[in-house]
Amino acid sequence: MFNRKMLMAMCMALLTLVSTALHAEKTYTIQLAETWGPNSPILGEAPRNMAAMAEKMSNGRLKFRIDSSNKHKAPFGIFDLVRHGRYDMGHTASYYYKGQIPNAMYFTTVPFGMIAPEQYAWFYHGGGMELMQEVYEPYGLLSFPGGNTANQMGGWFRKEIKSLDDLKGLKMRTPGFAGEVMSEVGVAVTNIPPGELYSSLERGTLDALEWVGPALDLNMGFHQIADYYYSGWQEPAAEVQFLVNKKTWDKLPEDLQEILRVSMKAAAFDMYTQSTHANSKAWSQMKEDYPDVTHKVFPPEVIDALRAATEKLLAEAAEEDEMAARIIESQQQYLEQVRPWTNISDRAYLETVAE
Ligand code: CA
Repeated sequence: MFNRKMLMAMCMALLTLVSTALHAEKTYTIQLAETWGPNSPILGEAPRNMAAMAEKMSNGRLKFRIDSSNKHKAPFGIFDLVRHGRYDMGHTASYYYKGQIPNAMYFTTVPFGMIAPEQYAWFYHGGGMELMQEVYEPYGLLSFPGGNTANQMGGWFRKEIKSLDDLKGLKMRTPGFAGEVMSEVGVAVTNIPPGELYSSLERGTLDALEWVGPALDLNMGFHQIADYYYSGWQEPAAEVQFLVNKKTWDKLPEDLQEILRVSMKAAAFDMYTQSTHANSKAWSQMKEDYPDVTHKVFPPEVIDALRAATEKLLAEAAEEDEMAARIIESQQQYLEQVRPWTNISDRAYLETVAE
């Protein structure tokens, strides 16, 4: 028959089974605040895609409630909402918080920096994730890549830019670090709310503006007013971010953490491929509707001046802050390693096959 020892062992096994079953049943509802407005194409699809994957993979143990900016009223306050625990997660762009957490800016994109495949390689294999965690950790946050817009366009210009002089005094909307660089070369940088951009460009309050790329520019209608669409230099790989409150993360069992991690990574990659798809469709649409729209690249003297201004500002930032110096150095070193490969692979291929 059973001895005392065997009975004890059976009881323990039963307890473990019950606790595993209870554990497996427990659901977690994650509240996520996004910077974007309701039904925002591409940007707003990324967190929903992530949520749908995580819910399915966890067999419903993870559930999500996503609030757009019309609900939480703080499109550029996601950093605060998540770190103070008013939301468990956020979907936003690091460089919006330049004022509060200046070193987060480098995790979105850097002018003249890496393109998306290079930057993803830096994040996942070149130490980028670790540096990003180090920057967010003091705020009780975890941060993960949340999707890429792909290389952003340099903007819509009503007049052709033939020389550096053409930029002097030009009234242009271009926010963030790129705006500072533009100011350095003499552009009169103004920040105008998105809803007023079209009318400002039409009325001449603005001579030029930068938004994202064809996919998101198409509905803004800028191609109806400005003929010159320039390739970019300022946001070669704009990555948005998922922010997760560390306390929420720590409450999740390990398998749900992994499901969340994988869902965020997959949703980020999906947004990047979706951007490429939607940009290509929108660009052909623009060309069809408005044949006068002309693609341009900035002349070398403009690019040289913008690059010099970028390097000056980055050197100043590195001088002022040790963490900034580490991030900038890590990115520059990675670029030196990865770009020669890009040059002999993708660049050489594209140049060889031309069109
Ligand atoms: Ca932009």
